[in-house]
Amino acid sequence: MAGLGGGRWETVIGLETHVQLHTKSKMFCGCSAAFGAPPNSNVCPVCLGLPGALPVPNEQAVKLAVRAALALGCTVQPKSVFARKNYFYPDLPKGYQISQFESPLATKGSLSYLSPDRGLATATIVRLHVEEDAGKSLHDRFPKETAIDLNRCGVPLIEIVTGPDFRSPQEARAYLQTLKQVLEYSGVSDCDMEKGSLRVDANVSVRRDGEIALGTKTEVKNINSFAYVEKALTVERDRQIGILEAGGAVEQQTLLYDSRANAVRPQRTKEESHDYRYFPDPDLPPLVLAEDFVAEEQAALPELPARKRERFVTQYALGITDAAVLTADRAVADYYEAVVRAGTEPKAAANWVMTEVLADAKDNHEQLRVAPTSLAQLIGLVKGGTLSHQAAKRVFAEVAERGGEPRNAAEALGLVQVADTGVVAGWITDVLAAHPAEVDRYKNGETKLMPFFMGQVMKLSRGKADPKLVQRVLEEKLGSPVDSRP
Ligand code: ADP
Ligand code: MG
Ligand code: ZN
Repeated sequence: MAGLGGGRWETVIGLETHVQLHTKSKMFCGCSAAFGAPPNSNVCPVCLGLPGALPVPNEQAVKLAVRAALALGCTVQPKSVFARKNYFYPDLPKGYQISQFESPLATKGSLSYLSPDRGLATATIVRLHVEEDAGKSLHDRFPKETAIDLNRCGVPLIEIVTGPDFRSPQEARAYLQTLKQVLEYSGVSDCDMEKGSLRVDANVSVRRDGEIALGTKTEVKNINSFAYVEKALTVERDRQIGILEAGGAVEQQTLLYDSRANAVRPQRTKEESHDYRYFPDPDLPPLVLAEDFVAEEQAALPELPARKRERFVTQYALGITDAAVLTADRAVADYYEAVVRAGTEPKAAANWVMTEVLADAKDNHEQLRVAPTSLAQLIGLVKGGTLSHQAAKRVFAEVAERGGEPRNAAEALGLVQVADTGVVAGWITDVLAAHPAEVDRYKNGETKLMPFFMGQVMKLSRGKADPKLVQRVLEEKLGSPVDSRP
């Protein structure tokens, strides 16, 4: 609940998310759908909309769209209809986008996510439909001129529309992050906001606490990171509350978010034509899906993040937060399970993966550079007393950087702990001989000097002495202190 001035306001948000499907070719032609090719190199008569060219739906794209719908618990419609959405824009050579309007591919799903305000919450998915992407206008190629790149024309998209279900910008962000996880897990899309493969239009309104009717909404576009979703919605929510508290009315309009100014501004009205004159595309028959086609996609669905998280909690006795961290990314979850399968105690494996492994991945393009079996061996060396935890971190970094076996790396770095009683006893003898005064004080009852002796032995061994062994031998050599109580 946001409050400016005295009033209390409730924020209402609904999201429309466009996601590029992970296919080799475009939605209705054979052109490559790859990102980053030289401008206008992946085009043909179909995606350029040349007269007489006919679209043919991409089966793989339909499969992925169905899979996404099932992952979001939607009902997949046995029959959906492609429709033309007509508007003029320089990056749309056909003059229309093929989309779905009255009969979308899928309806009525839901996605549970962890709301920072309310705990586990559920967003309704109103509809999920298939469409093709438009081209791109480039404003930074030539001074004062706009260039057009049509490579993106016809790239397959799904649009996922939620109900007006979110009550804060933070919730909207949490939903999007969960949506991204689910779609990544399912292999539907890489959901990379920076490359534009996941794009969000955010609808927002406010109403007085207790009010039932929804307020007038605005739609905020041009949001290109998760952090900006939260920021853009926050500034727009505050703007609306400001207007209403001053006695004004919110105007229903489309706004663009300017991340540099952290402000929204109205989209130029000529870009905003809401009369799309949708009609069924005469070049495409209705999309009719056989039951087995849908069943096959249902079977191909992997274990999704929420279920995996629950399983990690029960199977590995992890806390819910740790389980959430370990299952946020499918590759990390698989990695964790491989470390456990290689014989590591689940809690120790979790600690290593959540700290060293994730930190290393973050600095190295999300690569998991140490093989799971190597990490298991390394953790085993710590458990067996061969390496201190501190030394093991250095060995981890070494193996990540240069590969090889942890045991060999530890030896090469001279980090293997010395657990040979004779050697350790030698160091201890030297230390005690060098500190006769402290030895006397200890023997007279000053047991708090034990860490001092430990420290001296560790220093002399340059960190290599096995601390447990040092402690034991020290206690033996120093004997029990005399009882000096009066
Ligand atoms: P439009 O016809 O303007 O596109 P829709 O009814 O299709 O509007 O809804 C688009 C998105 O806006 C949906 O995600 C929906 O949940 C959301 N939405 C609709 N009304 C409101 C509102 N008053 N406040 C916030 N979000 C809303
Ligand atoms: Mg809409
Ligand atoms: Zn093409």
